[in-house]
Amino acid sequence: MVVGSGPNGLAAAITIAEAGRSVIVFERDALAGGGLRTDELLEPGFRHDVCSTIMALPPLLPFFEPMRLDLVRPPAPLAHPFDDGTAVLVARSVAQTAARLRGDAEAYRRLLERPVAHAAHLLQMVLRPPRPPRHPLLLAQFGLPGLLPAVTLATRSFREREARALFAGAAAHSVLGLDEAGTGAVAMLMLASAHAGGWPVARGGSATVAQAMVRRLAELGGEMVTDHAVLSVDDLPEHRVALLDLVPKGILEVAASRLPEGYRDRLARYRHGPGAFKVDWTLDGPVPWRAPDCARAATVHLGGTMEEIAESEKQVARGRHPERPFVLFVQPSLFDPTRAPEGKHVAWAYCHVPNGSEVEMTQRIEDQVERFAPGFRALVRKRSAWTAHQLEQEEPNCVGGDVMGGRMDLRGLVARPTLRVNPYSTPNRDLFICSAATPPGGGVHGMCGVNAARSALRARL
Ligand SMILES: Cc1cc2nc3c(=O)[nH]c(=O)nc-3n(C[C@H](O)[C@H](O)[C@H](O)COP(=O)(O)OP(=O)(O)OC[C@H]3O[C@@H](n4cnc5c(N)ncnc54)[C@H](O)[C@@H]3O)c2cc1C
Repeated sequence: MVVGSGPNGLAAAITIAEAGRSVIVFERDALAGGGLRTDELLEPGFRHDVCSTIMALPPLLPFFEPMRLDLVRPPAPLAHPFDDGTAVLVARSVAQTAARLRGDAEAYRRLLERPVAHAAHLLQMVLRPPRPPRHPLLLAQFGLPGLLPAVTLATRSFREREARALFAGAAAHSVLGLDEAGTGAVAMLMLASAHAGGWPVARGGSATVAQAMVRRLAELGGEMVTDHAVLSVDDLPEHRVALLDLVPKGILEVAASRLPEGYRDRLARYRHGPGAFKVDWTLDGPVPWRAPDCARAATVHLGGTMEEIAESEKQVARGRHPERPFVLFVQPSLFDPTRAPEGKHVAWAYCHVPNGSEVEMTQRIEDQVERFAPGFRALVRKRSAWTAHQLEQEEPNCVGGDVMGGRMDLRGLVARPTLRVNPYSTPNRDLFICSAATPPGGGVHGMCGVNAARSALRARL
């Protein structure tokens, strides 16, 4: 039995079914997918991804190959504009990107060439359960500089505004202060996946990825039950093993009676990271970026220089709401016309805010978009927004608006959800955890699910 059909719940179910075991997934929502849902949130014909859009890792993972995902690659994975109307662009190749970084070209090549060339091996090591690495030298070359805070690594590696800002924006995906240890590795991993996989979007919306996963599950004989909230694991049909695609808060809601007190206490102390404030828009035309290169990427990082981005994330880490937040902006309909009527567009953006925040950030986010795309507001047809607090009402795994399913700092990576040799297991031998609250953590990659299912298969099936 699998509770929850996010990418990790579905990946766990597929892995169980691939091993020839029977499996049923229960999902409280009317549609399967969790963070992979797409909906007409504002107007008919305008399709918004409710959560994830950028499929950074699926094109690089053998697990997704049988699903033949229909992914659209924008000409460039990522753009980062500045106040003077220029932008730095991550092109597909490291060499092309480096060529635009003038004085930092060599340093960029030195830092990224090897991780990109060995992206498959690197991902294998980073995404599998924590254990001694199979390619220690590669991990050391990547991991040792990566242990540094992003700001330190960027300042040591690069001399100019462009490369430093690009690196800081990539590191900000960690949702941590950029002066925290390990954020350098997040930036390198983000940039390596951008080069290696192109940061595509799913044609028709992220829901099509969920549909492909559900199809694969059905082909293998697995079953999907929607509109079925599991209130207690005691209510599940008879089973050998239950895998929970839930973060500790949800686990305690449905399975407390099956877990010993000490473990429950540790789950209750699970640490979440800051939240996200998300805005969705329908637009009368493409975003009027001052830097034309910004129209070549689905992901645009809005926050100016490294110093500004670091300051914004520092404010959030200290429990404040930045006046000029670092904004992750996504414009999928530029490359996937199925998402909006002809000539019209959808876009979304989020900024980080303190966990559980109820502060309205739409104006501040739109100010940041206007800063690099004057005239943006005039194109807005409709908008809707979720505070971090509201995000949890929609997505129960996003506790306090935490989109990563738990704090992704060094401690949060190792003790995820608690410190255990096998983090997917629980003291109850029939109960496993397969959500983003296990290693390797947040994002659409399904590897928490695959790792948890393999561990359950080894132990119990
Ligand atoms: C706004 C936003 C934008 C994001 N953008 C990206 C992006 O562009 N790229 C990326 O890689 N990642 C992105 N992410 C992160 C990504 O969506 C998550 O990390 C991922 O969805 C986690 O998958 P999961 O399977 O662990 O949990 P979820 O996707 O949260 O799935 C959990 C499922 O369990 C169900 N459930 C909960 N309780 C019960 C119950 N009691 N009974 C039955 N079902 C239950 C829920 O309804 C849900 O369907 C984003 C997240 C958010 C919120």
